[in-house]
Amino acid sequence: MEKLTSWVEIPPNSDFSIYNLPYGIFSEWLVGTQTTAKATQTAEKARVGVRIGDYVIDLKAVSELGFFDDIAFDKNVFQKNVLNDFIILGKNIHSQVRNRLTSLLLRGNESLKNQADKVLVKVENANMHLPVHIGDYTDFYSSEEHATNVGKMFRDPANALLPNWKHLPVGYHGRASSIVVSGTPIHRPWGQVKPADQENPVFKISQMLDFELEIAFVVGKETALGERVSTSEAEDYIFGLALFNDWSARDIQSWEYVPLGPFLGKNFGSSISAWIVPLEALEIFRTQTPTQEPAVLDYLKFEGLKNYDIQLEVMIKPQHGETKKVCQTNFNYMYWNMCQQLAHHTVNGCNLRVGDVCASGTISGKEKDSFGSMLELTWRGTNPIAMPDGTERKFINDYDTVIMMGFCEKNNIRVGFGEVSGQILPATAFKS
Ligand code: MN
Repeated sequence: MEKLTSWVEIPPNSDFSIYNLPYGIFSEWLVGTQTTAKATQTAEKARVGVRIGDYVIDLKAVSELGFFDDIAFDKNVFQKNVLNDFIILGKNIHSQVRNRLTSLLLRGNESLKNQADKVLVKVENANMHLPVHIGDYTDFYSSEEHATNVGKMFRDPANALLPNWKHLPVGYHGRASSIVVSGTPIHRPWGQVKPADQENPVFKISQMLDFELEIAFVVGKETALGERVSTSEAEDYIFGLALFNDWSARDIQSWEYVPLGPFLGKNFGSSISAWIVPLEALEIFRTQTPTQEPAVLDYLKFEGLKNYDIQLEVMIKPQHGETKKVCQTNFNYMYWNMCQQLAHHTVNGCNLRVGDVCASGTISGKEKDSFGSMLELTWRGTNPIAMPDGTERKFINDYDTVIMMGFCEKNNIRVGFGEVSGQILPATAFKS
């Protein structure tokens, strides 16, 4: 197969090759003001863009030049400040738009290249926004290694997995309102914490602020209340994937979570990457899921390759000093795949809406440096990570930035997610 190349100059190791073409929402910074106090002002309204190399393709502009005229859909979707209306158009239109863009971007095709100044925006001039309006957010718990590690620490090392874990993809309903786009800082939360050596809980600033390395998928098709989605249909209901950091305050979480699960230890913020990689772009990176034993119930059975080979990394960047890579793992460790998650989510008739986000749960591998949270990497703080500047980390410090990256690579083709980053700011002053 001959490798596709584009007339857009793409750096050799770019996540955003012509094979990727992820969707996002951007607006343009006022030229030259990125570093001034006016940085939050944007010259133009947020709209739909597609990333290639170090450029954003302005789909509103491409559309206004007539390049989608023969594809029947309402072109106003590209002027919206979220992707939902575009997603609602369905896979058939997404495919036609993607094929058209691929062809327009191919080396040798001069039609869009001749208008490049009207449609290409340099990434440094693009202000990225939350890509979808997220109505509901569900977080799963689908990595066996993560669930085992947490079970060992919080419960019983001999029976780390609870009896239900291998029979259903455990999950909980999270908070959609506090999901922010990559680059948005998060304040360290206050909360109720129960010190081990005290009889009563205290109200304090969280001292065990953690990240969770996850992959999220965006729901691409709605269902009616009462309707179920089978594992074989599930991919029709997935628009695309993103990197996701499900920030967690472990000291708040461990006191509050029994019996109804995570609450304030989780809902103070989650970060999602700016670019949603369409499922179509990940097709060649499909891979096996781990063997499921004992066998699952019929509605959770599936056929074919339902996982994706996505290499993942987490970095901690202190306010001063060098960045340190603390985790390297792969999405292919996941025990439960996205199709099973969707089948389980809807098996009772719970309806899906376009823009809903489902996250994988923390992705941990088998090795000590492949764990997807500080809780596991430092084993609840007992084995701190040494930073290049001589300090150590049990959890995340104020002003640390956590950066997660992910990409697929096969046959010299790279499709990546860019990054999801977020800086932790000190807790806000508490007015009682
Ligand atoms: Mn999580």
